[in-house]
Amino acid sequence: MSKKKNTEFDVIVIGAGPAGATAAIMLAKSGMSVGLLDKASFPRSKPCLGWVNGNVSKFLEELDVASKQLLSRPIKRIAFHNGELSKSAVPTLKSSPGYLIDRAVFDERMANAAKRAGSTLIEKCEVTRLEPHESGVSVHNAKGKTYQCKLLVLANGASDDFRRQVGIGRSNSSEVRWSALIEQELEGKSKGNAANADVDIVLGVTPQNGLAILTRQKDKVSLTLNSAGKEESIREQFLDLATRLREKELLDADFPIGSKSVKCAVSNLGPALELDSHVGKHTLLVGDAGGFIAAVSQEGIYPAMWSAKIAAEVIESAMKAESSQDALMTFETKWRLEMGDYLRPPNTDLQLLAPLIFSNQPMTDRMASAFFFGENI
Ligand SMILES: Cc1cc2nc3c(=O)[nH]c(=O)nc-3n(C[C@H](O)[C@H](O)[C@H](O)COP(=O)(O)OP(=O)(O)OC[C@H]3O[C@@H](n4cnc5c(N)ncnc54)[C@H](O)[C@@H]3O)c2cc1C
Repeated sequence: MSKKKNTEFDVIVIGAGPAGATAAIMLAKSGMSVGLLDKASFPRSKPCLGWVNGNVSKFLEELDVASKQLLSRPIKRIAFHNGELSKSAVPTLKSSPGYLIDRAVFDERMANAAKRAGSTLIEKCEVTRLEPHESGVSVHNAKGKTYQCKLLVLANGASDDFRRQVGIGRSNSSEVRWSALIEQELEGKSKGNAANADVDIVLGVTPQNGLAILTRQKDKVSLTLNSAGKEESIREQFLDLATRLREKELLDADFPIGSKSVKCAVSNLGPALELDSHVGKHTLLVGDAGGFIAAVSQEGIYPAMWSAKIAAEVIESAMKAESSQDALMTFETKWRLEMGDYLRPPNTDLQLLAPLIFSNQPMTDRMASAFFFGENI
């Protein structure tokens, strides 16, 4: 397909995170000219707990991203706790449900794979405005440069920035969620062990079903609280939880609890299943930009890659179709069919289910499957 100069592409992908890089790899492999634009340069840091579910390895293989090193820390032990930290339960794992990853390295490898596949990665390119027109979209950046494409993939993370400009309404979901995070670099203290990767999950931390996850890597301990609600109150509840985790010795005494160590960001503008549309003028929304986050675990990397894979398949057919816009519309049905069950919250209210998770081993095991693989409980 066509690439006239390095400002004109068949497809432009905005954002080179897991969603954007996946789309760029697949589209470039299918022969399209792809511009992959990111305001950052790689490696870039991204607040993250660094866990992915086991199915990610299959995706990486399909994308020709070497996974052995990226997925070298299988999760060996997980434990659930109730919000008061008075009860715990350890699921029986037949095999590792996922991996702990170094997020900066993971995203850099993905962006590099997109380059290897033939797409043009343009770093330090902050997109400021989109202008859809008859035959495509003009993409303007902060340096005053304009890029042209026939079709666009919006993979710019949890941001509402461009939805309106491509004709998609703003998210009006009541379910905007925040993530508060504290990370502790272990700097050679070697507290952890690569063979003993570890995840603790605290359920029902806030009245809005807040979920806290603690991951222990060889060189880093990370704690996050993900909840709907007001940022200030989430920060407070987060610090309170961290203090209680320390008292219970689930965190070390030197874990840096203090408002200055907390990073807080919007993690989800509303679940994909509640958004009116993911299809704009010549445009598809994928990853966090489209709310593709698992309801139980708030996992985002795997659904970002999955939604982008489906989007790339749709774009491939749209490029050959008489009306590309009609073909793009099939994205909505396709992702709902493929990902709906995985993204959907469980049929049962988790608050009601919680006591069983701590008293009934089969229920603990089912909660683990719901958490890691989006299975119903
Ligand atoms: C604290 C925290 C911890 C998390 N931990 C986990 C976890 O352990 N496991 C998990 O699966 N998920 C986790 N998530 C969710 C996960 O990080 C996201 O779901 C995932 O990053 C989504 O990928 P993406 O490609 O859609 O977006 P991103 O990874 O956010 O990538 C978006 C890219 O777009 C670029 N961009 C943004 N705006 C512009 C612009 N205007 N112009 C050009 N480029 C732009 C950014 O620089 C960025 O590189 C966590 C989220 C938070 C907030």
